[in-house]
Amino acid sequence: MQTELADFIRDSAEGREAEAILRKCVHCGFCTATCPTYQVLGDDLDSPRGRIYLMKRMLEGGPVSARTRLHLDRCLTCRACETTCPSGVQYGRLVDIGRAVVEERVPRGPWDRLKRAFLSFFLPRTSLFGAALALGRLVGMKLPPRRDPGPWPVARHSRKMLALAGCVQPAIAPSINAAAARVLDAMGISLVEAPGAGCCGALRFHLNRQGEGRDDMRALIDAWWPLVERGEVEAIVMTASGCGATVKEYGHLLAQDPAYREKAERIAALTRDLSEVIEPERLPALAPAGRVAFQSPCTLQHGQGIRGKVEALLRRAGHELSAVNDAHLCCGSAGTYSLLQPALSGELRRRKLEALQQGHPERIATANIGCLAHLQGGTQTPVLHWVEMVDRALQRRMNS
Ligand code: SF4
Ligand code: SF4
Repeated sequence: MQTELADFIRDSAEGREAEAILRKCVHCGFCTATCPTYQVLGDDLDSPRGRIYLMKRMLEGGPVSARTRLHLDRCLTCRACETTCPSGVQYGRLVDIGRAVVEERVPRGPWDRLKRAFLSFFLPRTSLFGAALALGRLVGMKLPPRRDPGPWPVARHSRKMLALAGCVQPAIAPSINAAAARVLDAMGISLVEAPGAGCCGALRFHLNRQGEGRDDMRALIDAWWPLVERGEVEAIVMTASGCGATVKEYGHLLAQDPAYREKAERIAALTRDLSEVIEPERLPALAPAGRVAFQSPCTLQHGQGIRGKVEALLRRAGHELSAVNDAHLCCGSAGTYSLLQPALSGELRRRKLEALQQGHPERIATANIGCLAHLQGGTQTPVLHWVEMVDRALQRRMNS
């Protein structure tokens, strides 16, 4: 696309990146077919092509209004459009730049600002969020059941990997990292967590508080760095694909920070999704364990380009996988999206659960805590992280 950016951004790093991305888009519209918001709303401005057009106009100095912001807010940042685009348009990077500009140019109303400030303060604080969850469960709110995490094996192997505890995951489902630690222990790898390591920064970054999100990223790098610098861990393992997609981008996200650029690149290079470090062949063949539908989070399949690995691990753990239509579409969770865009998010969840349950699975497996909590809120079918299922299968084998 012919592009002439305005003076306010042309000579900045963001301007150069946005221009290169915009020039790649040929406006063909193939991406509209896989965009969840376009499928629900049917408005071209709620499709990747329409949003690209709005951002191009804004970055070229054209008018920008609350409607521009609304169409960008409605985007899930699921990046299904990137997977579909034949021209390699990096929509996710462009929308980060567009959102930062629109946030500055079109101030939000007081209620919207308050909601976002509250979420940005509350969610990354695990103990505060955990206390609220406990209270919610007491008064009967619809929340995922708290599963006993079980024992975390002592670090006895010479091979060590670092796990991200994260912010909301230890409060909602501490069982996930404990299960990952047991499964890796059985493979001869000790999983350790670094003290003081909190949120990966995705939450605040995607609330469009990009500066605060980058502060969280720097704090996490500081917490991990001593272990990484001493070469004590061979990889950094992500059990939440949302965090994994973000940490793998640290090199890019902190590229303009000379104090952190190199550390960020090193951290990103060490980062692996859990499904990338467990080889199915290394799991013993396990007894039949029932029918499961796998919901592949957008941050796994589109953000990290990982497809088929979890499915192979679940099969190895004895599960039969039921068919899921439109598996490329977002479930509507998308970080805080489900709280900020409840109607759209609810409709996407309804469609996703219909697709997941068409094969009458006994359980639904996922790879991201946000999707897990969001989906569980709409169904009686138990929703678990896939590693909890693999862990259970291994435990059954050991106890039989
Ligand atoms: S983003 Fe890609 S698929 Fe979508 S209109 Fe542009 S070139 Fe076509
Ligand atoms: S990131 Fe997802 S919701 Fe946003 S434009 Fe692309 S496909 Fe649509």
